[in-house]
Amino acid sequence: MGKERLVVIGGDAAGMSAASQARRRRPELAITVFERGPYTSFSACGIPYYVGRLVDTEEKLIMRSPEKFRERDGIDVRVLHEVEEIDTAGRRVSVRDLKNNTSAWEPYDQLLIATGAVPLSPNLPGADAAGIYGVSTIKSGLDIRRRLDAGDIKKVCIVGGGYIGLEMAEALVLNGLEVSLINSSAQVMGTLDEEMGALVSKALRDNGVTLYLNEALTAFETTAGKVTGIITDKRTLSADMVILGIGVRPNTVLAEAAGIALGEKGAIRVNERMETGSSGIWAAGDCAESFHLVSRKPFHVALGTVANRHGRVAGINLGGGYATFPGVVGTAVTKLCQVEIARTGLQEKEIKALGLEHESAVIKSHTKAGYYPGAGEITVKLLAEKGSGRLLGGQIVGMEGSAKRIDTLATALHAGFTVEEMINLDLGYAPPFSPVWDPVVIAARAVAKKL
Ligand SMILES: Cc1cc2nc3c(=O)[nH]c(=O)nc-3n(C[C@H](O)[C@H](O)[C@H](O)COP(=O)(O)OP(=O)(O)OC[C@H]3O[C@@H](n4cnc5c(N)ncnc54)[C@H](O)[C@@H]3O)c2cc1C
Repeated sequence: MGKERLVVIGGDAAGMSAASQARRRRPELAITVFERGPYTSFSACGIPYYVGRLVDTEEKLIMRSPEKFRERDGIDVRVLHEVEEIDTAGRRVSVRDLKNNTSAWEPYDQLLIATGAVPLSPNLPGADAAGIYGVSTIKSGLDIRRRLDAGDIKKVCIVGGGYIGLEMAEALVLNGLEVSLINSSAQVMGTLDEEMGALVSKALRDNGVTLYLNEALTAFETTAGKVTGIITDKRTLSADMVILGIGVRPNTVLAEAAGIALGEKGAIRVNERMETGSSGIWAAGDCAESFHLVSRKPFHVALGTVANRHGRVAGINLGGGYATFPGVVGTAVTKLCQVEIARTGLQEKEIKALGLEHESAVIKSHTKAGYYPGAGEITVKLLAEKGSGRLLGGQIVGMEGSAKRIDTLATALHAGFTVEEMINLDLGYAPPFSPVWDPVVIAARAVAKKL
């Protein structure tokens, strides 16, 4: 009998974390990873900083090459190999070698699906024109930067004011370009409540981005197959390049075709150990569902932090250990030039949808003692359940030193703290780091007063 074989589909955060964990625990396991792209373990998160020229070469975004995985970890990584079908009954996958254009069936004992997410692209006239870029892979980052290097791009239009739209806005401002951003709702960063989103909209304007809120994209303007602008329900904007940041969906094509159950949020349904409902098949990362520890409901989020943790848990289990992934609280951070943005837990509309009653408070304070050089403004919003006082969520917008304060709130959500309990948290203080009452505690006091 041959060695037991683990096959992984997708060679990035979730797939390679899992493969590495499984290898560490079971040196005798045969592990093969099929990756349709040319790289493994690349940092998509770094693309905006590469486009913004804060990172000089694309190599710096590759954490570990396929060769290193092969030599150091004995993981058989096959790049430019796309899995086309999963045969659950026969425990095999059909794999196309994209270089030679040949296909073959490959057997597995255990299979991990780590196929990530795919960017949404609008099905609108002109959407296939040259010069329109989604931002998802290293290749998309390279394409955008090469296009900028050519020197003929002056005006760029970004569609979507989520974190990818924001980070790309920063990158393009750093390139000295004329940037406009359209967003279909009243404020950017839809995962923030409106008054916090308004602070981010202001930050965009302060950094020279022309913002069009409450405007929907209706078509792309093109000439001879090249994009020359976008058309919204209110105007036409000329552009030499268009960047799309309108969200992603879990990449579940293979799983769905194989009859593997999806969850409520359209991602692959998994149990706490990251096992799907099909025998020997596991899923992790952006393609898999999570559980929201505050709403107590299934949740899907496409973030590297979650993908790595999913992958680690799946890998421990595939390596013969026992690990569970309890869930997420919806933490995310980003920045736009000098302004840092963070959120965790539930926002107002989610709380209302759950039928919970809440109180909230928005406070302004400083990132350091007010008299200390470099102290910047920070705004914190906290939301707590009426009656119990349980913390439900928090949002932060402010200058350097603001965003990572969200980790205190995320930890409090994991612990199920009330805002009263947060007031006496023994947090660090010295003038270069914080006012004597940390801004998140000032916010907790402000909400507690209202309860
Ligand atoms: C511009 C940008 C910025 C980001 N910034 C952050 C950030 O700051 N913080 C954060 O936490 N997250 C960030 N993210 C999200 C983060 O990159 C993803 O959540 C993370 O990469 C998900 O890892 P994954 O392994 O699940 O999926 P992916 O990274 O998408 O990897 C899936 C892999 O599967 C391969 N694949 C798919 N189908 C097949 C197939 N049929 N056969 C073979 N291979 C296949 C794909 O080629 C891909 O390499 C960012 C993403 C982008 C695009």
